[in-house]
Amino acid sequence: MAIRNIVQVGDSVLRKRCFEVTDINDKLFQLIDDLRDTLIKENGAGLAAPQVGILKRVVVINIPEGYYELVNPVITLSSGKQTDYEGCLSIRGKKGIVTRPNEVKVKAFDRNGKPIKFTAKGYLARAVCHELDHLDGVLYIDKAESIEPEF
Ligand code: ZN
Repeated sequence: MAIRNIVQVGDSVLRKRCFEVTDINDKLFQLIDDLRDTLIKENGAGLAAPQVGILKRVVVINIPEGYYELVNPVITLSSGKQTDYEGCLSIRGKKGIVTRPNEVKVKAFDRNGKPIKFTAKGYLARAVCHELDHLDGVLYIDKAESIEPEF
């Protein structure tokens, strides 16, 4: 277990497209454990591998709706709209208003390569969309209609 350093906006690693995970090994388990521990320590809602400098399609989400570890996640269907504030551990001290789908269907794998499928609504859908954007080098500030300081 280790707490990793969170890369901040301006670092080009946040703007790259991540690679699919092709091997299940100790390095993957370590990465997921570290993402989880770092997310919990930072009290965040989600963390994607590029935010710790690793260009792999792995995210963790920890919100009241549940804890999720997603490997090679994809959104297969999205519907509806929701507009609310969101923030990002890679963009400290700011929040922005972003419109996201209200519901998304997600396909992914767990850390052992077992397929996962679920439907995310509301806040979970927002978290999934935010984290999956990270895997393609997209940040919420690219989509926000306004950005404000967060106190
Ligand atoms: Zn983020």
